[in-house]
Amino acid sequence: MKKQFAIIGLGRFGGSICRALNEQGLEVLAIDTSEEKVNEFASVATHAVIADATEEMTLKSLGIRNFDHVVVAIGDNIQSSILTTLMLVEQGVNHITVKAQNDYHEKVLNKIGAHKVVHPERDMGVRIAHNVVSKNVLDYLELSNEYSIVELEAGKLVDKRSLTDLDLRLKYGCNVMAIKREDDVNVSPAPDDILLEGDIIIVVGADSDINRMEEALF
Ligand code: ATP
Ligand code: ATP
Ligand code: CA
Repeated sequence: MKKQFAIIGLGRFGGSICRALNEQGLEVLAIDTSEEKVNEFASVATHAVIADATEEMTLKSLGIRNFDHVVVAIGDNIQSSILTTLMLVEQGVNHITVKAQNDYHEKVLNKIGAHKVVHPERDMGVRIAHNVVSKNVLDYLELSNEYSIVELEAGKLVDKRSLTDLDLRLKYGCNVMAIKREDDVNVSPAPDDILLEGDIIIVVGADSDINRMEEALF
C-alpha cells in the first residue's frame, strides 16, 4: 500500500511539502482552516479539507492516526502548533514532523513527543552563511556539531590533479563522495580520477578539516 501523508497548514512551507509529495505521486491529505488555501490545494493534494487541527474530534474523524506521516506546518500560531502536535501524539500517529518557529517552541515540541522538529529559517540561514563566507562552498549539510557534507567548486589549485596526488584523505581527513562534471555524477571516485576546474566535488569530513582543506586548495 502507498504511504499516506497529511500536511496541516498550507503556508509556503507546508504548501511546498504538499506539492513535492504530489509530484512524487504520493497520497497527501492537505488540511487548513482557510477555505482559500484549501481551494488552492484541491488540485494538488489527493484530498484537501477545511478543518481546525486543534480540535480533537476533527482529527479523529479524519482518521489522522492511520496516516504514516503527519507534518504540522502551522506558522506563527505557536499555541495551535503545540496543541495540534500534542493531539497527534496522543492519538498515536507514527511519524510526526513539526515546523518550529523558535528555540523555545522547538524545546516544547520535543518534550511533548514530536518525532522530528525542523527549523527551516534557522537551518537555511546556517547554510547560506557557509555559502556566503566562501565563494567555493555551494551547499552545506550539517551531519552533527562536528561533521558536515559540503559541495565545493574546484578551482585552479586542484585543476588536472588526481585524488591520489591531492591526498585529501591523509592530509585533511576528508573524503570525496562524488564528483559532478556538468550532467555527469561520479559517485564512486577512484584514487586516480582527475579533478578539473569547474567540477563540483562533494566532500564529507570534520568541519575543522574541511575548513583547512578549503583554505589550502579551494
Ligand atoms: P511561510 O513559509 O510563508 O512563512 P508558514 O509555513 O510559516 O508560511 P503561515 O503562512 O503562517 O505558515 O501558514 C500557516 C498555515 O496554517 C496557514 O495557512 C493557516 O491557515 C494554517 N493554520 C493555522 N492554524 C491552523 C489550524 N489550527 N488548523 C489548520 N490549519 C491552520
Ligand atoms: P585507503 O587505505 O583509504 O584505501 P590508500 O592509502 O590505500 O587509501 P588509495 O586508496 O589508492 O590509497 O588512495 C590514495 C590516496 O588518495 C588516499 O590516501 C587519499 O588521500 C586519496 N584519495 C583517494 N580517493 C579519495 C577520495 N574519494 N576522497 C579523498 N581522498 C581520496
Ligand atoms: Ca512564517
